Amino acid sequence: MKTLLIDMDSVIVDLMSAWCKRYNDDWNDNLTPADILTWEWEKYVKPECGRKIYQYLDEPDMFLNLEPLPHAIEVLERLSRHFEILIVTSSRRGAMAQKDEWVSRHLPFIGRRNLIFAHRKDKVCGDLLFDDAPHNLEAFRRTGRLAVAMDYAYNRHVDCLRVSGWLDFEQLVWRLFGGEADGGGWEDAGPSKGSVGCCRGGARGHQRGDLGPAYGP
Ligand SMILES: [Mg+2]
Repeated sequence: MKTLLIDMDSVIVDLMSAWCKRYNDDWNDNLTPADILTWEWEKYVKPECGRKIYQYLDEPDMFLNLEPLPHAIEVLERLSRHFEILIVTSSRRGAMAQKDEWVSRHLPFIGRRNLIFAHRKDKVCGDLLFDDAPHNLEAFRRTGRLAVAMDYAYNRHVDCLRVSGWLDFEQLVWRLFGGEADGGGWEDAGPSKGSVGCCRGGARGHQRGDLGPAYGP
């Protein structure tokens, strides 16, 4: 059975929107995920906020109540019937328990036993990594395995497969691995064989994202 490694922040959960909202509320600004063009958030917030933007990530409930990105849960549920799914997330120490709880609440079919905290995702066993962070995608690619980017402005320089959302990702997985999936081929189990919504490099889709392993210092 093939193993899919799935990032959590800004791939399964919508960290960007929640983060922007908290910043906007406190600093009377109108920052959106689409405004974040590189990995350094402090460049896009008001100077008086600066690196304080990272302090939101240490709030005790920041990660616990994040919304899933569209179709994330339903696609994961379908894929989990045919693939080994491991959630691989880098995390600040204070967020670990929240992420553990989030997975238990929203992804019981995967379960917290399949949640791995790791900064070095390239060292985790698996056939494919679905992530948004450029350094994770690049490091995983260097191992000779498949890296798939959730498309954001800040990762478009990475030369890898990319998708604009979860339905695109589902089609891509079946295109890549459908014939090897557990429980039979993708003719029965997978989605329709329409064009796979992915590409290598280039801009596509809207912009969502997070800031990688430690989200700043
Ligand atoms: Mg991420």
